[in-house]
Amino acid sequence: MKLILAIGIVLLTVSTASAQYNPVIAHRGAWKKKALPENSIAALDEAIKLGCFGAEFDVHMTVDSVLVVNHDADYFGLKIAKTKYQDLLQKKLPNGENIPTLEAYLKAGLKQKRTRLILEIKPSNVSHDWDMAMTDRVVTMVKELRATKLVDYISFGYDILQRVLIRDPKAKVAYLKGDVPLEKLKVDGFYGADYHYSVYQKGEWFSKAKELGLTINAWTVNELKDMNWLIGHKVEFITTNEPELLLEAIKDQKRK
Ligand code: MG
Repeated sequence: MKLILAIGIVLLTVSTASAQYNPVIAHRGAWKKKALPENSIAALDEAIKLGCFGAEFDVHMTVDSVLVVNHDADYFGLKIAKTKYQDLLQKKLPNGENIPTLEAYLKAGLKQKRTRLILEIKPSNVSHDWDMAMTDRVVTMVKELRATKLVDYISFGYDILQRVLIRDPKAKVAYLKGDVPLEKLKVDGFYGADYHYSVYQKGEWFSKAKELGLTINAWTVNELKDMNWLIGHKVEFITTNEPELLLEAIKDQKRK
């Protein structure tokens, strides 16, 4: 009987531990400390290894409709939206990787279940139609690879996120630009706000988000004092270039 009780306590402890507060989203993967290329699969793998809640990455589309992962609209001086995928392969990332395709990136992420894939769809500056076609392709690929449960969507394009919700009404989408009130995000079926942390320093964002059942994500939080302020408000997600520092900050708060 005592043994059963002991096992029960151990299991309870383990399950409580696994539900620990972990708001850490590695911005463009965890690249900084190990000098990995941003948005590389190596940076994704590092974020996974660290145990981040999520790894954020940016998606663009080539002129021949291949979805690729890169921060800027340019890759080594080539405009992605005007370049064929094969031509992007002429240049490699500094660690020897090719520019990741979305397919390769998702497949790498799908090797595990703990770290979520925070997929940012970048507005193209080509046209609205281009952005909608790109968004449709992204959502289709996420569905085809059975990654819907692991992927959250973010974008500076409000129309892009609305399109995601048309294509996948259950998708979790959060808006980045910081210029839309929470009430509107709620009405439009969004999961939450993902605004620059300075936006949250004015107004009643945290209590209002709780009231509305929306999540708060803050970008890009690299200083310990800002991390601690957000942790103190128990925001759901914090996007950072310093995931190791943020993971430590959370541990420190627990010790207090
Ligand atoms: Mg991004």
